Amino acid sequence: MKIKDLRFTEKKWDFVKPFHIANNVSTSKVNIEVELVLSDGTVGLGESSSSFRVNGESEAAIFQLQKEILEMIKDLDVRDYRKVFAKLDAYSRTAPSLKAAIQFATLHAFSRSISTPVYQILGGMKDFVETDKTVSIGSLEETVHDAKEIFDAGHKVIKMKVGEDVKSDVARVLAVNDEIKGVRYVIDANTGYTTKEALRFIDAMYRNDVPVGIFEQPVPAEDFEGLKIIRQGSMYPVGADESAKTKYDVMRLIKEGAVDYVNIKLMKSGLSDALAIVEMCNSAGIGLMIGCMSESGIGVSQSVHFAAGTGAFTYHDLDSHLLLKDVDPVGFRQEKDRQYPILF
Ligand SMILES: [Mg+2]
Repeated sequence: MKIKDLRFTEKKWDFVKPFHIANNVSTSKVNIEVELVLSDGTVGLGESSSSFRVNGESEAAIFQLQKEILEMIKDLDVRDYRKVFAKLDAYSRTAPSLKAAIQFATLHAFSRSISTPVYQILGGMKDFVETDKTVSIGSLEETVHDAKEIFDAGHKVIKMKVGEDVKSDVARVLAVNDEIKGVRYVIDANTGYTTKEALRFIDAMYRNDVPVGIFEQPVPAEDFEGLKIIRQGSMYPVGADESAKTKYDVMRLIKEGAVDYVNIKLMKSGLSDALAIVEMCNSAGIGLMIGCMSESGIGVSQSVHFAAGTGAFTYHDLDSHLLLKDVDPVGFRQEKDRQYPILF
């Protein structure tokens, strides 16, 4: 089961509608599909969805790493996947999304060789996970329409993007909360607020009894002090996303008592750091959610297998394949909000 080759292919995906988060609008996304080939011809799949905004990655630059990485992992046996993971840890700072794709492709090749799905190699804690779906920033009418559609599709958690303007953000969430009963919200400001704005926003949620599960990344990634102040002033759990990329970031967040939740994304951390973050947060009593970053079918599959295998997450935000056009789930079955990982 030795690694012989590594192939990269660029794939472009269009969003169903422009995806608008705080200070950023996306209409399409270029990802890299990874094929890791073993000596017997078995192919393991992975997907890198790079992010300049979050990781400082450039898709064009990481595409050039194919030769260098193949040199490092060639002839390693995928049964010894921790050896491959360790080599790839060198790319935490430069190309975390590619690290994730190749680490998953390694497990996937191993999985195919032994006819056992990846989520069982990772521990098999759950047979399925339940994902939320995201409402991006838009007009009040659009927001209510999109949230209703998500509720009707069977999702029990709705993720709402905020972070550009407190007043209209509050109005949008309250309008949705008036229309829909029986759901919880993950509210994500994507670093868009100041500390004072975040406290104003979350106070409005509390006064209006909005069932907020997590208030995610209210302030800039580096502002651990702001997170801490908001955590102390908020009746709802506060989560880190952009602040929590590597296991070292999460160790600092825990030490500083800055958050109640961490949003793990394989595209920020790879599988190796994600595994470490799960254990650190479990030990520290910090809650976990898992998110995505414009991955298509294979990329979301990576996270579905990771989440089901470890069983570590309270919230699953694995909806990017639903936000992109013409994406079929690969490696999992989607039934309403449930995602069942399968051998693929
Ligand atoms: Mg987020």
